[in-house]
Amino acid sequence: MNSEQWIDKADNYIMKTYGRYPLVPVRGEGCHLWDADGRKYLDFLAGVAVNNLGHCHPKVVAALQKQAAQLIHCSNYYHIPQQIELAELLCDNSFADRAFFCNSGAEANEAAIKLARKYSREKFGTDRFEIITALASFHGRTMATVSATGQEKVQKFFDPLLHGFKHVPFNDADALRRAISPLTCAVLLEPVQGEGGVVIPSAGYLREVRKICDDNNLILIFDEVQVGVGRTGKLFAYEHFGITPDIMTLAKALAGGAPIGTMLARGDIAESFGPGTHGSTFGGNPLVAAAGIAALRTILEDGILENTEKMGNYLVAGLNKLKEKFPCILDVRGIGLMIGMELSISGGDIVKEALAEGLLLNVAQDRVLRFVPPLIVGKNEIDDMLEILTAILKKTQLSL
Ligand SMILES: *Cc1c(COP(=O)(O)O)cnc(C)c1O
Repeated sequence: MNSEQWIDKADNYIMKTYGRYPLVPVRGEGCHLWDADGRKYLDFLAGVAVNNLGHCHPKVVAALQKQAAQLIHCSNYYHIPQQIELAELLCDNSFADRAFFCNSGAEANEAAIKLARKYSREKFGTDRFEIITALASFHGRTMATVSATGQEKVQKFFDPLLHGFKHVPFNDADALRRAISPLTCAVLLEPVQGEGGVVIPSAGYLREVRKICDDNNLILIFDEVQVGVGRTGKLFAYEHFGITPDIMTLAKALAGGAPIGTMLARGDIAESFGPGTHGSTFGGNPLVAAAGIAALRTILEDGILENTEKMGNYLVAGLNKLKEKFPCILDVRGIGLMIGMELSISGGDIVKEALAEGLLLNVAQDRVLRFVPPLIVGKNEIDDMLEILTAILKKTQLSL
């Protein structure tokens, strides 16, 4: 079937939860995708920061193929070697002592919310349950994570929301301090906001947040679902800020495109999750965990972090040159290959035109073009992207 036929069929069978673009990718390799008509696309969205190693990285493919032939799934009633090994890799390379595995970012945050409440109650008293999160944050689409998310557009239609979440402006330590009450048990933040429009906090903010949490016996949870696993040029974004969280959630890029989520925690906090307190049928099953090991090892051992930093600087420099030429560009900001370009106009049409030109991009908060290419991206691909974008901006500028 060709793309048009697939899209017609989707119209009949698939729930319309996404405003999908008219693209039907059927094959991927590195930074490129091919659609059902054989057309090639340059992918600067990477499954929204999932395909950090590009599409079908040979080491991830090999790990999946090998594991699929050996054991795809077994219950968490038993010990799973691949899961244990992935947990060890994550703990050896982070602040954390223990890992819990699930299947998505939202689920990882659900686990973090449950663990923070349970630990805090056991340690500090039964009335502590409130969690402070940031405005313009994004933590997922389940009821608890929708309640945690600081965006009305995600929450409307779904009242009553889960009780016990308070939202404060991001990058404002005083606002956080004021929001704390005797009921507060934790602070949940993305160290760099993704869906909020690639918002990088000031250098001192997260250190201040850490201190506020320490002073008030609050658990600091970092949602690194989007910025973790190499995206910012370090394995985890918190490493840029000279502090550590108490709990961290990961998902998106962790298993090279296989669905996985994890919640990592400091040992004493992790103790609160005993048998029967939390669980997941598929969480960390042999297949996804094998992919996770392959993806994480590759990121750690194949120079991916160095490339991310180098190519991030190269891409930001290229975008800053565009900023000098096009007045509709207000700001270019980035950390590693997590890059946003804020416009004075809506970015929706630019994304559509880019697609027509064979370039996949994305827009956050309507006006921030988001560039999250695979971390294996090279100068050639960045140059190709900039050339397409320049042509589109020229046309856009003329029509303003
Ligand atoms: C994508 C995302 C989530 C939700 O992840 P799902 O796997 O879609 O549930 C949560 N937090 C952040 C920061 C994200 O970017």
